[in-house]
Amino acid sequence: MLNPKRTVAELKELRSLTGDENGAQRVAFTPTWAKARKFLREKVANISGAEIHNDAAGNFWATLAGKSEKALLIGGHIDSVPNGGWLDGCLNTLAGVEILRRIAEQFKGKPPVTVRLVDWCDEEGARFGKSLFGSSACSGKIDMNETRKLKDKDGIRLVEAVKEHGIDFEKVKDSGKELKNAAAYIELHIEQGPVLLDLNLPLGTVLGTFGVERHAITFRGQAAHSGSTPMNRRRDAFLAAAKMASEIYEIAKRSGGGVCTIGSCTTKPGIVTSVVEECRITLDQRHLDAKALQRMLDEAKSAGQKFAKEGNVDVSWERIWNIEPILFNNQLIEFCDQSIRETGAKPHRLPSGPLHDAAEVARAGVPTVMMFVQSLHGISHNKIEDTKEEHLELAVTAFDKLADKAMVWISGRGD
Ligand SMILES: [Zn+2]
Repeated sequence: MLNPKRTVAELKELRSLTGDENGAQRVAFTPTWAKARKFLREKVANISGAEIHNDAAGNFWATLAGKSEKALLIGGHIDSVPNGGWLDGCLNTLAGVEILRRIAEQFKGKPPVTVRLVDWCDEEGARFGKSLFGSSACSGKIDMNETRKLKDKDGIRLVEAVKEHGIDFEKVKDSGKELKNAAAYIELHIEQGPVLLDLNLPLGTVLGTFGVERHAITFRGQAAHSGSTPMNRRRDAFLAAAKMASEIYEIAKRSGGGVCTIGSCTTKPGIVTSVVEECRITLDQRHLDAKALQRMLDEAKSAGQKFAKEGNVDVSWERIWNIEPILFNNQLIEFCDQSIRETGAKPHRLPSGPLHDAAEVARAGVPTVMMFVQSLHGISHNKIEDTKEEHLELAVTAFDKLADKAMVWISGRGD
């Protein structure tokens, strides 16, 4: 029988094993992460009939072979950021363990479809600065050339660090074969934001992950003495950049659900006695709708032109990174709503701002959905990250119902 209280107890067990007074310390490819993985392996080893292995990218798989090879995948990540929260990622994994137990017991080790738990390797990218290592290797979307060059702050190469954990970097894409019979992927996660909290709802259905457009914008004017240059003779690069700050709020407001952030600003010469010659800002824009995201970018570009013209400065754009919005599966979204409703809660649909492993699985073509549970304070990646225990238990219960619906769906599908 499903025992959501056991999941909460195991989360606390994991916290005391791998956290300290500053929070969770399960950074991937560190000894504490290895300890967390050992803890997970021991829990899963007690489930009768579960086959356990790590794939070529270091993702941990526990498989209950079913009557059909078609598989329901339940995913999470036990790694954390340094000084992280006690729930981010591991709630997903440990809820998955509990569901695997329930299914193994109910079907005497042979469910109608294959059920697999995956603990993704290095979701956070905290040590090497690139997230979704294991899931992007599995989806085949990992940028091998870029990832091969990564080093941590001590100059240790990712390639060397992963080797210590049994991973041959050049072979990580071999993990893709794990998705061969994948028929659906579900993932439970804390929201990490304030939306469900503000609505006073415990659970939500995730529609997909935001597309992202990330650019550096450089305005170029002319350095000039701050005393001798009259205000009407200035070509002030900072002034043009500063106008962008309030404009992006208008752009976001018009976009219907998008967000925009200017996250950094550097000036040259950057001294107190000179008009700014060069001002570089970064702009991060996110939206669930690809067309709306493009519109936000277009509007930002024309605003930049306008402000540059007004201030008699030049402007140039450089794309830092982008990813398209990734939409989850409509049928699974429906099942997720139903599962939430069956626990007595009111479902609410929302996009995910952060990227998740689920996005990589969806990109690989596997029908996917995520369920969110409310975050207290709307905060994550911080030791104060928390969720009410009753909500955690409710989440495990609802997520288990989703697993059931997905299994029935998979076995009824002719593909
Ligand atoms: Zn996470």
